[in-house]
Amino acid sequence: MKAWESNIRKVVPYVPGEQPNVKDMVKLNTNENPYPPAPGVQKLSSELDVDCLRLYPAPDCKSLCNELASYYNVKPEQVFVGVGSDDVISMAFLTFFNSEKPILFPDITYSFYNVWGDVYRVPYEEIPVDDNLKIIKEDYYKENGGIIFPNPNAPTGILEPLEFVEDILKNNQDVVVIVDEAYIDFGGESALKLIESYENLLVVQTFSKSRSMAGMRIGFAIGNERLIKALNDVKFSINSYTMNQYALKVGAEAVRDREYFESTVQKIIKTREEAKIKLREFGFEFPDSMSNFIFATHKKYKAKDIFEYLKTKNIFVRYFSADRINNYLRITIGTDEEMNKLYEALEEYMGI
Ligand code: PMP
Repeated sequence: MKAWESNIRKVVPYVPGEQPNVKDMVKLNTNENPYPPAPGVQKLSSELDVDCLRLYPAPDCKSLCNELASYYNVKPEQVFVGVGSDDVISMAFLTFFNSEKPILFPDITYSFYNVWGDVYRVPYEEIPVDDNLKIIKEDYYKENGGIIFPNPNAPTGILEPLEFVEDILKNNQDVVVIVDEAYIDFGGESALKLIESYENLLVVQTFSKSRSMAGMRIGFAIGNERLIKALNDVKFSINSYTMNQYALKVGAEAVRDREYFESTVQKIIKTREEAKIKLREFGFEFPDSMSNFIFATHKKYKAKDIFEYLKTKNIFVRYFSADRINNYLRITIGTDEEMNKLYEALEEYMGI
């Protein structure tokens, strides 16, 4: 190794799900929304004026923060936006996790957390979930440098009630607790209700799932004004212009259309509940999911084999080779038509 190479920051990067571009594929591998963004977003996108690209976007992202603040009934100073919730959480790691004590998160969870821990040199401890893949809240009642967990958890889809989240907060008032609510709109109760009572709570959500805008890259955090100020101070120390002109405009438009948002979410929930029945009929087992995916295992067929077979049919689901979950498939809920194609392929595979 050359001397200069020894100074390179070494990280094992996060591996996102693949983005194949195959004609007529059924893409159920990265938890995207199968329905288009709100009609207003489509209209606005076709009318966007390229002249605005000459100018830097508003660094404080006020227009989008204001829209989110009025939707969620908080002050604009309580809202932080970023380039997807990945950007928001990454900023939050850098801002809030500066203790020598380890931060805590589940061993089976969003696999970006340990990558941010490594890249920012934040010590962390991965707390094992139980045999049913559930988070054990009491394991988080010990000294730590901060806590992060998704609710519902990913990739399990398991939702915990608000009291569970509040118990973790009650027992951890000296550190920042981040609840990653990427999937909360699919049937969960948001911890946003707790931000007035717990000034150390940061709730993170995204436009990528329930708002059908993964490609636009918009995420946000809501919490106490002091938390948001601290996040902005770090952001402005790295890159003032995180959100581009279009993202600010169409993001605000998406938030305005509450009716479309709610009807899309309801369609996905309905398809998910039908999928639970169907997948059980196929012999799959899975924890009850309150997200837009189902994390399923099969006693007779290996997850990896099913994954490979489905791929040959241009049906993409997600397979993780990680310990404890290497016999599971994470299947995103698509349209009814897409799910029917999945069921047909499973029938063929199982010879039913
Ligand atoms: N948190 C969780 C739990 C996720 O599954 C994802 C999606 N990969 C994200 C955060 C990040 O989503 P995005 O950056 O698209 O907002």
